[in-house]
Amino acid sequence: MHRINRRDFLRFAGASVGALAIVSPARAAQSARVMVIGGGFGGVTCARYLKVFDPTLEVMLIEPEPQFVTGPASNYVLGGFRALRRITLNYDALQTKYGITLIHDLVISINAAKKTVTLKNGKRLSYDRLVVSPGVDFSWGAIKYYDPASANAMPHAWKAGPQTTLLRKKLEAMRNGGRFLIVAPANPYRCPPGPYERASLVAYYLKRHKPRSKIIILDAKDDFPKKDLFMDGWNKFYPGMIEWVPGAQGGKARSVNVHKLVVDTELDRFKGDVVNVIPPQNAGRIAYVADLVNDSGWCPVEARTFESKKQKGVYVIGDAAIAGDMPKSAFAANSQAKIAAAAIVSELQGRTPAEPLLLSTCYSLLAPDYGISIAGVYRATADGIKLVPGSGGVSPREANLDFRAEEAKYAIGWYASITADGWG
Ligand code: FAD
Repeated sequence: MHRINRRDFLRFAGASVGALAIVSPARAAQSARVMVIGGGFGGVTCARYLKVFDPTLEVMLIEPEPQFVTGPASNYVLGGFRALRRITLNYDALQTKYGITLIHDLVISINAAKKTVTLKNGKRLSYDRLVVSPGVDFSWGAIKYYDPASANAMPHAWKAGPQTTLLRKKLEAMRNGGRFLIVAPANPYRCPPGPYERASLVAYYLKRHKPRSKIIILDAKDDFPKKDLFMDGWNKFYPGMIEWVPGAQGGKARSVNVHKLVVDTELDRFKGDVVNVIPPQNAGRIAYVADLVNDSGWCPVEARTFESKKQKGVYVIGDAAIAGDMPKSAFAANSQAKIAAAAIVSELQGRTPAEPLLLSTCYSLLAPDYGISIAGVYRATADGIKLVPGSGGVSPREANLDFRAEEAKYAIGWYASITADGWG
């Protein structure tokens, strides 16, 4: 893999912001209404930047929950070094500082032909342009017997909040010498390095409190991002504690037994004391209801604008979108949100959207002071969104502990800035 060239990365990042800045509020369309479904990383960022690029727009954000608990840093909660309240954000600033209208409700249907959405409370609202950022839902039953009720016995904790607390409680209650199983899905799924960061930070906790315990990752894949870096770190800090079983060696989960805390894979049976099943995923339910998904279970979009290929005037961003080489990450959702906002404002003003450049960096912690990262810059091409050759890469393998400590600081700084860019 290529190593990160920070100068190039910043050059690309600057070019991307420059491309956005040409959208002139002075030429704004009068009072068009842009509605955004989903108050997660994609949705809040898009709502905010719509207002930044054109303050005259009426921007509505629809989100059922009163607060948002972030997936990023939720593994720190499992590791025991960050409280859940410190990853819980509220929507106040969006209304008071940025003039966005917030509606706490669930969208149950979209009529793209009539440009209306219907809320669970029965109200129907009209829009001029619609942004959909509903994140993921789980493909229940893809692992036999893993259904919503099973998530009480075998939490996924892949949507942060009560599930994170539940998994943490189970970890705290686990005996010393116990077995913590993590079931990791095939690609594509939300946060590709996430299961391995989770294994690391669970190990961080266990090493201090229950050092005879073991973590087994049952993986549907034969590879994962930053694998060498993760494995180096595991050997260094948690020797013998984390075992990774790739798909080809029987890691692929077939079924679960929630009463016995057993996972059956293609080749073997594993019994856990705590079982964390991260199930296969697909676009959030509303994307299905609104006929935005294709056979893959994700939403095809125009690479330059994120407008749906299936419904005109509807833009899909974040985890739900098919974004080519980009990972399903909060950073990617944030980047896509800005591109979609700029495209919508340009289009409402009758101008052609600028050529987008998109970004993503995924930091992972293996311990509070040991971080690694993978980064990329992406461009819209005729074949979809592609990594710009030579633009990104992973942290160097031979780096010393000071370097890793610096990357851990960047991870914390990144979290503060990406959440402030949305909710702050
Ligand atoms: P979300 O942020 O999930 O937001 C979707 C929102 O839509 C939700 O609030 C939901 O309530 C709302 N919604 C859904 N349906 C409807 C509807 N019908 N009507 C109204 N609202 C609706 N990414 C990183 O970049 N870096 C990391 O370090 C990182 N770590 C992670 C660690 C873990 C453990 C996990 C699980 C994820 C991590 N991620 C990370 C990934 C990141 O959380 C997601 O990629 C990101 O949240 C995607 O943003 P989104 O807007 O697509 O979806």
